Amino acid sequence: MKRTVLISGGSRGIGRATALLMAQDGWNVALTYNSDSGMADKTVSDIQQLGSDAIALQGDVASETDVLRNFDETLARFSQINAVVVNAGIVGQKAPLADISAERLRKIIDINILGAFFFAREASSRLSPAEDCETAALVFVSSAAARLGSPNEYVDYAASKGAIDTLTIGLSKELAPKKIRVNAVRPGLIDTEIHASGGQPDRAERLGKTVPMERPGSANEVGRAIAWLCSEDAAYTTGALLDVAGGR
Ligand code: NAP
Repeated sequence: MKRTVLISGGSRGIGRATALLMAQDGWNVALTYNSDSGMADKTVSDIQQLGSDAIALQGDVASETDVLRNFDETLARFSQINAVVVNAGIVGQKAPLADISAERLRKIIDINILGAFFFAREASSRLSPAEDCETAALVFVSSAAARLGSPNEYVDYAASKGAIDTLTIGLSKELAPKKIRVNAVRPGLIDTEIHASGGQPDRAERLGKTVPMERPGSANEVGRAIAWLCSEDAAYTTGALLDVAGGR
């Protein structure tokens, strides 16, 4: 039986790249999206072209009901979940904290923290190792912002990713006896549409030269790290915060 991965926000950007790379490695993919069903359907059909099975599931990660339904739908289709990638996340417009509204703070916390907790909680009870594997895997997509802090840009986002790092450390110890490895990747400046959604479409290109490696990263470069952490090649890796940030 093929292994199955469930990826939140798998329709575009880092989630889509991870979905395609893992499909190439022989995984079936369940991916969630929030609003853009066209992009989610395109990713599903691109995965099917690679010979794997895939489904697109609508759901807002900030809704407990939606997250429970997404796990139910994945198990109904594929019978088992062997890896979960907690990837969906948002940034706000560039601003100092003094100018950030309560509404925005709630939205960042709801999607980036609460949404990750809902996904992780369900993963902790519904993940199981594939028949030929010793472990199942939970991978969070955190950010280099967790250690840089993102001053004058989005400290709310950075702090939400700090919470993800702490959750990774605690949950890795909690779930190790259940044969579930828990790790995080911390991408740096990656060229995806998230920057446009935060009002800075040129951000990756503009700041790329300030990175020690003098360029932004690609979604594929992050996806490869996630795919490795999901694989048995990482069988003894848990509690790791893996920077994929070009030295940033
Ligand atoms: P992206 O291109 O904006 O894609 C975001 C994905 O998340 C889309 O599939 C989107 O679906 C989904 N999504 C957004 N809000 C959601 C919600 N409330 N519920 C469910 N799904 C939702 O973002 P990305 O750059 O690939 O980022 C992915 C992750 O990497 C995020 O956690 C981000 O913080 C992290 N990261 C990114 C960078 C970077 O430079 N790009 C750096 C560090 C960390 P819809 O399109 O349907 O809304």
